Amino acid sequence: MKFALVTGGSRGIGRAVSIQLAAQGNHVVINYRSNDAEAQKTAALVEAAGGTAELLKFDVADKHAIQTVLGGWIENNKDKPLEILVNNAGIRKDNLMLMMPDSDWEEVLHTNLDSFFYITKLVLPSMMFKKFGRIVNVVSLSGVKGMAGQVNYSASKAAVIGATKALAQEVARRGVTVNCVAPGFIKTEMTEDINEAQYQQIIPMKRFGEAEEVAEVVGFLASKASSYITGEVININGGLHT
Ligand code: NAP
Repeated sequence: MKFALVTGGSRGIGRAVSIQLAAQGNHVVINYRSNDAEAQKTAALVEAAGGTAELLKFDVADKHAIQTVLGGWIENNKDKPLEILVNNAGIRKDNLMLMMPDSDWEEVLHTNLDSFFYITKLVLPSMMFKKFGRIVNVVSLSGVKGMAGQVNYSASKAAVIGATKALAQEVARRGVTVNCVAPGFIKTEMTEDINEAQYQQIIPMKRFGEAEEVAEVVGFLASKASSYITGEVININGGLHT
């Protein structure tokens, strides 16, 4: 059994990823920020699928919380070395750049980008020691092509793609792979305010994706089966690239 950490695992894509990783035989540490009820529901779904999970509540945008809560968990669980990390927690706060409050820029960058650095830095040592690791970063089509109204979000996701490619080269010789999945429009609470009918026209598959369709790919990248793939970005967007 391997130990996996999924950030933002209480809802949406992170919940589907938690269930997928548990189904693959991993014990899943489910991080979330505030929604206790939904986090407990994810843990129950993992257990219903025959897996095991535990909750670890901390704000990924808060460097000190990461160091205290995740750092403390790692210190107290030396028998559970994390070998799989899915950096999934993320937010969007859309606005045209001219109208964007500084706080929306900062909040999105702290949550989507800084979290990658501080969390991965804490988890990497056990992977380097075990000579095995799978890091999967959930980015976005917005980070690949840039999306009007999402200068903050696109910047955060594009930065994680660059960091993924750089880190992949640093740790490859220790058997640690670092990859991204870049979803297009996926049906979760994050996209609840987006009119699917309006966007269906521009998506070649004429529909939004399901969280499980992302989780399947994350599951592959988190498994031994993907051993020679690193520094990659896999797009999961129903053919929507432009
Ligand atoms: P979602 O349904 O809004 O769920 C967000 C999850 O992230 C929740 O579990 C939430 O925890 C957690 N979270 C948010 N901020 C956090 C923080 N500061 N600290 C800890 N946890 C935090 O979002 P989603 O659609 O599943 O998105 C997951 C990832 O996929 C994000 O990185 C997003 O950018 C990316 N993505 C999504 C889409 C899409 O169409 N849905 C497309 C491309 C990329 P609480 O429940 O406690 O709030």
